[in-house]
Amino acid sequence: MPTPPMLPEVDRTPLINRLARWAREYPDDLAYTFVDYGTDADGVSIDLTWRELDERARAVGAALRRVCEPGQRVAILAPQCMEYVVAFFGIMYARAIGVPLFSPDLPGHAERLLAVYTDADPTCVLTTSSVTTQVEGFLDQNPVPRPKEILAVDTIEAAPADWTPEPAEPDEIAYLQYTSGSTRTPAGVIITHGNFAANATQLYGAFDGTPRTSTGVMWLPLFHDMGLVSVAGLPMVYANHGTFMDPVAFIMRPVRWLEVMSRHTDVFTGGPNFAYEYLTATVTEEEKARLDLSGVSVFMNGAEPIRPSTMEDFLAAFASCGMTAESQVPAYGLAEATVYVTASRRDRLPTTTAFDREGLKQGVARPCDPDDDDASVLVGCGAPWGQYALVVDPETRLARPDGHVGEIWVHGPNVAAGYWGRPETTAELFQATLAEPAPGMPATPWMRTGDLGLWHDGELYVTGRIKDLIIVDGRNHYPQDLEYTAYTAHAAIRGDYAAAFAITDDDTEGVVIVAERNRRVPIAQLDLEEVATAVRAAVKHQHDLRLTDFVLLEPGGLLRTSSAKVARAACKQAYLDDSLSTTARRQG
Ligand code: ATP
Ligand code: MG
Repeated sequence: MPTPPMLPEVDRTPLINRLARWAREYPDDLAYTFVDYGTDADGVSIDLTWRELDERARAVGAALRRVCEPGQRVAILAPQCMEYVVAFFGIMYARAIGVPLFSPDLPGHAERLLAVYTDADPTCVLTTSSVTTQVEGFLDQNPVPRPKEILAVDTIEAAPADWTPEPAEPDEIAYLQYTSGSTRTPAGVIITHGNFAANATQLYGAFDGTPRTSTGVMWLPLFHDMGLVSVAGLPMVYANHGTFMDPVAFIMRPVRWLEVMSRHTDVFTGGPNFAYEYLTATVTEEEKARLDLSGVSVFMNGAEPIRPSTMEDFLAAFASCGMTAESQVPAYGLAEATVYVTASRRDRLPTTTAFDREGLKQGVARPCDPDDDDASVLVGCGAPWGQYALVVDPETRLARPDGHVGEIWVHGPNVAAGYWGRPETTAELFQATLAEPAPGMPATPWMRTGDLGLWHDGELYVTGRIKDLIIVDGRNHYPQDLEYTAYTAHAAIRGDYAAAFAITDDDTEGVVIVAERNRRVPIAQLDLEEVATAVRAAVKHQHDLRLTDFVLLEPGGLLRTSSAKVARAACKQAYLDDSLSTTARRQG
């Protein structure tokens, strides 16, 4: 990586301590707007000013202090709405530990809720009266610890006039951020007030926002790291205005996200790669004619591998709406770093670089012609702001030079305190030490991300996860490469819906790919043998690899996380347990 810059001084003042200040200085400015599409398909705006937010959060804080102590856990089991934000800051006023979860009626999330709720074992639950019955049902019907109290945020009365919250300290725990669960049961990352403030400030620095002027427009769920920091955190840094909606409203009609952005200037927003693909695929020309995206400064793309084609297609689709090429900002992050680690800049074009695939597998990044057969085109995720990101050889614990693949290690005020209830993994992953300190950087503590990447030309490129790497006969394969080959091998496979993983059979490593049937190809017209043969041939040709098994799954059969990431470990487990919803199986 380039000569490490001096870390800018990042303000760790707890964001909650700034709320009273904004309420005093800008009482009538808008703090948050929730656009509710549940009651009206055109959306109804629900606004809170800084004074109102402060009053309502204090009310929650005072109510919580009647039933729980500082440092106890308080879970939020509520749909995406304004009360969620009020609850989150109310917990901070009570100096309790927030556990931002979701309503039990969120489809497809029951197992996740059960796992994380049990792990967090909260003393109290905050909800809204619209879903209190569902919350009661969840607690009654599952073997989970009972909370002492369930409070509906919308029914809580104003705090007594003499109730004043004590200020929070940067090293106190603010909340537990459960990871997405791509590779394991979600783990609770311990985020301190200092982490949250630092990372929101860093993200703000990466966006290059203007205090009180830039405005956020988001749909990301508040129970995810990226949603929580960008929806709830960013506006609180310098009293900016943030608008958000329910992810379901976005999924049902994605153009809503762009419609809300069209009404503002100096907009920052973000989402995972699939969100941009979804917009490109669904927004009609007629809808585009009504959009004005010239006021959008940042379309951040992060949280999952970024596809160069997604960015190209998105720009091609929306350039006519005034969108600028610079506004696409690729980024990299993870819950263990609160969320944000690196991002490209809003004033420069995103970079893509073609690397020789064989070189990448061997750990060396050799730039090549993007049209080469063996080219792997990767998107640069920029550089960190206010923290360090190093690429390290996990065996020798030495920093690797530019152009060499290794594990991404992170150090900064945003790196979390560890995992809730997992001291051993915490010591292993959060307190790593370099064998030799890299110039200008500390020797310890470094957080091991488990992600592989490389530095090239001043930018971090993420190549994959260590846990997902498939090693056969001493050769490395990135699962996403194999998956791409599989789902482009035959029209009967749904694009982007495949999982590749290694299995051990009689001590030999084998590779399995499971992939979803394209709904538009009816079973009756399907020659299963032909599909399997096409996939096997493509994998053999492109990767010189013989598949142990290929399984076609029924639509919806591929297991994904709550943030729609491919859950390869879960797919592997289901494959081994024979519990996948299979169209057909061909043993090879
Ligand atoms: P779990 O840790 O429970 O298995 P998760 O790692 O998916 O789930 P998150 O912390 O929400 O949970 O996601 C962070 C991960 O997402 C990163 O560690 C990385 O693997 C992936 N990721 C994030 N941004 C990018 C990116 N720009 N390119 C590739 N992968 C990315
Ligand atoms: Mg992770």
